[in-house]
Amino acid sequence: MTDIESDPQPPTFADLDIDERVLKALSDVGYESPSPIQAATIPPLLEGNDVVGLAQTGTGKTAAFAVPILSRIDLSQKSPQALILAPTRELALQVSEAFGKYSAHIPGLHVLPIYGGQSYGVQLSGLRRGAHVVVGTPGRVIDHLEKGTLDLSNLAFLVLDEADEMLKMGFQDDVERILADTPEHKQVALFSATMPAVIRKISKQYLHDPVEITVKSKTTTSANISQRYIQVAHQRKLDALTRILEVETFEAMIIFVRTKQATEELAEKLRARGFSAAAINGDIVQAQRERTIGQLKSGSLDILVATDVAARGLDVDRISHVVNYDIPHDTESYVHRIGRTGRAGRTGEALLFVAPRERHLLKAIERATRQPLAEMQLPSVDDVNAQRVSKFEDSITESLTSDNITLFRKMIEDYEREHDVPLVDIAAALAVQSRDGADFLMAPEPPPPPRREREPRERPPRKFDDAGNPKQAKSGAELATYRIAVGKRHRVVPGAIVGAIANEGGLRRSDFGHISIRPDHSLVELPADLADETLEALRRTRISGVLIQLQPDSGAPQGRPGRNSSHGGSGHGGSGYGGSNRGGKPAKSGKFNKGGKFRKGEGKFGN
Ligand code: AMP
Repeated sequence: MTDIESDPQPPTFADLDIDERVLKALSDVGYESPSPIQAATIPPLLEGNDVVGLAQTGTGKTAAFAVPILSRIDLSQKSPQALILAPTRELALQVSEAFGKYSAHIPGLHVLPIYGGQSYGVQLSGLRRGAHVVVGTPGRVIDHLEKGTLDLSNLAFLVLDEADEMLKMGFQDDVERILADTPEHKQVALFSATMPAVIRKISKQYLHDPVEITVKSKTTTSANISQRYIQVAHQRKLDALTRILEVETFEAMIIFVRTKQATEELAEKLRARGFSAAAINGDIVQAQRERTIGQLKSGSLDILVATDVAARGLDVDRISHVVNYDIPHDTESYVHRIGRTGRAGRTGEALLFVAPRERHLLKAIERATRQPLAEMQLPSVDDVNAQRVSKFEDSITESLTSDNITLFRKMIEDYEREHDVPLVDIAAALAVQSRDGADFLMAPEPPPPPRREREPRERPPRKFDDAGNPKQAKSGAELATYRIAVGKRHRVVPGAIVGAIANEGGLRRSDFGHISIRPDHSLVELPADLADETLEALRRTRISGVLIQLQPDSGAPQGRPGRNSSHGGSGHGGSGYGGSNRGGKPAKSGKFNKGGKFRKGEGKFGN
């Protein structure tokens, strides 16, 4: 078992014997150095060992297996050499995109995602063309194996990504079948966030003497640093950051991002918004780096946008704030990052941006540092505007002491006399001039997108627990009950429901609450605020060939329109399937059993 404690001299990618073309791609995407799981996993995989890695999403585990696979792929062999099994369509697509990025300089390499919910046609032509790497959800992979459309007889690498999630979603039989029915001499890598007994058993049974890797983190954070986090979706990070920069009182700030490109891009965007910001990353020559740090020390620069590598050892007393704009891969990086503030006996502020799917990393940081982070709310438009007014007033107070005030006072007095304009109007006109045409106040939030006009939708009633608090899923989402049109008589089991809904709706298992399977329908607790696109995808999902017609549960008897009968209303523009969901009508009987035998764990999509 390899436990990685803090490594004073972490390796570079170039140290790891990676194929030159892959190395170039890693440099193109801006990765400076391997994350801990990559540093530990790439060498044994390159040497041909099986690997069991305890790692979660966000740790860089995709590159940990993709890089060694791509370094060893044989382009001349046309049948798939690598198969990555992932629990959800979303993850399969993500992994497939990552393979695409890391193989950008390997011309002729084909990566193909195959997952439930996509028509077979696209997948069949991809398979016929020849895919070196296939990334798929287990149910769909089995489908192709049964149809004889996927040839795994030359498989050399098999990766089980998020193995614990796959098992929780009812894919254990499928996964074991794939492990057993593929060539004995393939190399297997198993990644899992947790190691329940059943995964240990699978690893014992199907992996050969695997190298086991867990990343242990150094976890001491300084008590004089106050730590907060803010929940923000990726696309709103820049807006959140600029609001924070306006509202927080800071002396100097270091903002951490993941890649070299991101340092340049973010610094540029901040400069365009009037902040004094510069980037440092591993590509910046030493002389320039020293100049920039000198400016930060002297106060001629206030914001540094940096990667972990570039900021290593940075010691500037003025840094009052550290912002983790991109969440770090591991808790050790977090500890190093926030240690850039609170120096020389001062206090420091650490802020962490957490996107919805990164909550587990926040939890890991809290667990490892044994310190809860306080949640911070996004500063409102009113907060920002109040701050602008207060800064404006301060600037007036400051300018009143300027040496030039006597000269200007004389000019203003002359102007007032000659034009007979009140002094307050003159002052206001000068303020307008000083703004250079820009709006002084931040505009109010735009109204929410008009999607409800297009398709009016009543939200499902939220669930409450015995204490009267909103009932929450493990993921923290508030739950509501949804009805689906499959039940006992369709022989569904919870695993199949979770598998299909998670795959088609891009949800995680931790988003699910209770599932109750009734004679001819089932009730499933899911996040109350499912996006319209997710609901649409889920209405079209099939389990065992049956359209599940997911809809918020109204409690109305089955087959009668409930309170949500407005679904698929007239404004829907005839997207074709909307009508089949109206009023909670049962599925057309001709579609029952169309999909043939019941499949465990994966929703089937009619085609
Ligand atoms: P993963 O855990 O594989 O989902 O990766 C999480 C994120 O980290 C993705 O956005 C990757 O592009 C990014 N990433 C992976 N490895 C590195 C690295 N060595 N340096 C910087 N970013 C990375």
